[in-house]
Amino acid sequence: MNTTSAEDENVRRKGQERSNIDRNTMPWIHKFITNWLVTDPAVIEKYEKEPDRVYRNDSNDSYNRNDNITPIRTRVRHSQKRNYQVQKHDNIPYVYLFGGRWRAVKKRPMNIMTTILIIVPAVLFWVFEAKWVWRHVSPALTIIFSYFWLLTISFFITAGVSDPGILPRNIHLPSSIRGSGINHAPDEYFNTVTIPYHSSENGVTVKYCSTCHIWRPPRASHCSVCNCCVAIHDHHCIWLNNCVGWRNYKYFLWFLATAVITCLLVIIISFIEVFHYRLVTDSVIQTSSQSIRDHPISLLLVIYGCLAVIYPSLLLMLHLFLTANNLTTREYLNYIYGHSKKDPNRFINVFDTHSIVQNLYMNWIGRTPGYTLVKQSDIYQPGDVRFQRIEPLQSYQK
Ligand SMILES: [Zn+2]
Ligand SMILES: [Zn+2]
Repeated sequence: MNTTSAEDENVRRKGQERSNIDRNTMPWIHKFITNWLVTDPAVIEKYEKEPDRVYRNDSNDSYNRNDNITPIRTRVRHSQKRNYQVQKHDNIPYVYLFGGRWRAVKKRPMNIMTTILIIVPAVLFWVFEAKWVWRHVSPALTIIFSYFWLLTISFFITAGVSDPGILPRNIHLPSSIRGSGINHAPDEYFNTVTIPYHSSENGVTVKYCSTCHIWRPPRASHCSVCNCCVAIHDHHCIWLNNCVGWRNYKYFLWFLATAVITCLLVIIISFIEVFHYRLVTDSVIQTSSQSIRDHPISLLLVIYGCLAVIYPSLLLMLHLFLTANNLTTREYLNYIYGHSKKDPNRFINVFDTHSIVQNLYMNWIGRTPGYTLVKQSDIYQPGDVRFQRIEPLQSYQK
């Protein structure tokens, strides 16, 4: 028995040991939690049977020593597995919730912090201010605040857990990869290709992603945090813990806008509460220090609102500028860097419609999220190439 078959035997034995943990015998509550509520493909992999070998490399082939093409498909007991349950690329850093409908990056979950920052002031408002404002000022203020707060959290969740426009993997594989198992791609796969654009002599550039094995459409790029290519990639937002791209940019914009409005409402309403004694003649409160003693949470919320409004306002202004020019954050940064270095290949914005109104409309209202290209909650079709694990291609020149 040579080394490879000894290793295979070892792997097979380990797989059998693992498969002794039968998920069918799990209590329903555990199955509900691990199969549906929260799913971490990396953890599930430990308890599944050893993967079948779909593409085997010939160990005699000099190009195949790294065992570059490894199957990820597990021998599924149930034909009704969903895509998110079989997705086991090494570097897919997600945890899935609600049957693959929600997705979050595992590393540094700053979105939890953002959620707390959004929820805490609202709870303080409803517990300590809402009733007073309703009675002494106007019920409308409480309702308007609650409405904008709900919009803010809804846009935040939608932008944070939805698909930003992830492009499917393994769509453009060099033909040699299956036939001979060669893991090198032709050199043109590593060049930036310029294709003509109808309204410009500059054209648009496309590039092959050697990790996702696709020719990226114009404006797409590979996010190193999410380890995937995203269509019309704007940036990876650490506060959302998600990429912002084609499918969720509109929600991100409206999250910024409603967050700023909600912060301003908190400041205004809390301010009214603190200084209400000056607006009425029959108040028993005579001084501002007396009023603050009576409404300490209002003062706290004024300070909180003033601090919290700064960051989203600055970001909102930047994105108003970007959307008015129909630019993504990445394109803008490329333009700035290229311009400062007088780079002849610097980014030129061919996507500007030369109408601010049209640019704003397209980004804030007009853009539809469209269909997700990698729907994790769909039933897995055996052999679906999008979910196979293929190592990054290498150039002959490297
Ligand atoms: Zn990619
Ligand atoms: Zn990302």
